[in-house]
Amino acid sequence: MAAYDYDIGILGGGAAGLTVAAGAAQFGAKTLLIEKEKSLGGDCLHFGCIPSKTLIRTAKVYHLIKNAEKYGLPSVNPGPVDYREVAGRIESVIRVIERYDSEERFCKLGAKVRFGNARFIDEHAIRLEGEIYSAKNWVIATGSSPAVPPLPGLDQTPYITNKEVFSLESLPRSMITIGAGPVSAELAQAFSRLGTKVTIVELGGQILGVEDKDMADYLMDILVSEGMTFHLNSTILAARDLGSEKEVVVRNGAGEILNLRAEKILVAVGRQANLQDIGLESISVDFDKKGLKTDSRLRTSQKHIFAAGDTTGSYQFTHAAGYEAGIVLSNAIVHLPRRVDYTNLPWCTYTAPELASIGMNEKRAAAAGMGYSVWTEEFRMNDRSLTEDDEAGKIKLLLNEREKPIGIQILGPHAGDLVSEWVAVMNGQVRLSTVASAVHPYPTLAEINKRVTGNFFSSKIFSEKVRKALKFFFSLKGRACGD
Ligand SMILES: Cc1cc2nc3c(=O)[nH]c(=O)nc-3n(C[C@H](O)[C@H](O)[C@H](O)COP(=O)(O)OP(=O)(O)OC[C@H]3O[C@@H](n4cnc5c(N)ncnc54)[C@H](O)[C@@H]3O)c2cc1C
Repeated sequence: MAAYDYDIGILGGGAAGLTVAAGAAQFGAKTLLIEKEKSLGGDCLHFGCIPSKTLIRTAKVYHLIKNAEKYGLPSVNPGPVDYREVAGRIESVIRVIERYDSEERFCKLGAKVRFGNARFIDEHAIRLEGEIYSAKNWVIATGSSPAVPPLPGLDQTPYITNKEVFSLESLPRSMITIGAGPVSAELAQAFSRLGTKVTIVELGGQILGVEDKDMADYLMDILVSEGMTFHLNSTILAARDLGSEKEVVVRNGAGEILNLRAEKILVAVGRQANLQDIGLESISVDFDKKGLKTDSRLRTSQKHIFAAGDTTGSYQFTHAAGYEAGIVLSNAIVHLPRRVDYTNLPWCTYTAPELASIGMNEKRAAAAGMGYSVWTEEFRMNDRSLTEDDEAGKIKLLLNEREKPIGIQILGPHAGDLVSEWVAVMNGQVRLSTVASAVHPYPTLAEINKRVTGNFFSSKIFSEKVRKALKFFFSLKGRACGD
């Protein structure tokens, strides 16, 4: 048997790579982790989840201060935002988390960490800074970068992406955001709340294209009410640098040509897998525009080279990266064959209100040709929402023809946390009647989970048939008021 330097080598020290490295080393595998940048942590820590959620929190606090009167407090004029202070807070949160992703910690776990640009020289070996390292198995976990559309003039026009947006020198007076996906929606609302005049241009007919249109439209109406402007069904014809301002020429859905101007252009049209310059062509690992081509055990066209995280091009979330890392560990290290199953993978867009989802929505159910019924409950009927002044949004429960839950979408306060009950229900195949009969503490937002199931059951429980049966058996006297 060939002698390799390592049992497993991992390219990329982000969410997926770190999870594989920590697991493999703790299982006793000789593990090599290679990161291109100077520190570990990847996009989630440095340019993604952590900075965006920190920014969103700051924007929420500022928004609440400006709306103090709504809570019976004296009105407050907090003055303009100094973005360097905001960026400083973002940086300090990153620094705290970064400690857990240090080279020393991974070394203690038993993994060797190397920094630099690696390139495959054959199916089992890479060259890194002049040295060659071989491993029995490899994992490509190099993540993704912001995709930049080939718009006329954009290459001559300064723009920012999620890589720059968290460390700007000052708060932009105005910003045009290209794309209306989750990254765009979260950042655009945060900047709008901090005082930037935000305009979003989107090619499609709704924001958050994978979500059901009714939920996306509901959210968009809220964002519009906060002062953001949207141009849907709009094609960008050109971008230009006008010096202190940038111009984006748009043909909107009505066919009108609009010359939009702003201090900054934020490009957020999706992600592209980082697969360039690692020599994949020379070792026959197949990939396309979406990412690496894998089987359900996350093996690429070279069975000992695995993919995890954003490189798979499937669900580009940190929790998906962690899940896929577990599948890779099982297949490559423990040799227990495991396949990916994304049926119950939840996700959340952290706008205010948040939009969380698990399983089928109406779009996906219809595309799969499934029959379903929809049950809803509004947050304005939830007492806690009213006390919190957070009554926008609703929950949507999809049941299949056998009345089993196949998907839930929640647009509302803390939706990302509220969906966790459904994570347990869906994964544990818990019966709907269990959710309906389980006592939830009052007053909580989570009562909405119970209430929506109640809406389904009450049509059955309080039916004419049941009423008649009770009347017959127990001589109930019927209505005491009205007809
Ligand atoms: C603004 C924003 C907000 C987000 N918010 C959320 C959120 O709230 N929740 C959520 O679940 N997801 C969120 N995401 C997505 C999340 O960040 C990614 O899905 C996650 O980071 C993917 O993990 P990964 O390990 O595949 O990639 P990464 O974490 O990016 O790690 C890849 C690593 O590989 C390194 N690398 C690249 N090329 C090479 C090479 N040739 N050799 C060695 N190393 C290399 C990179 O430097 C990087 O460190 C957000 C993304 C963005 C952009």
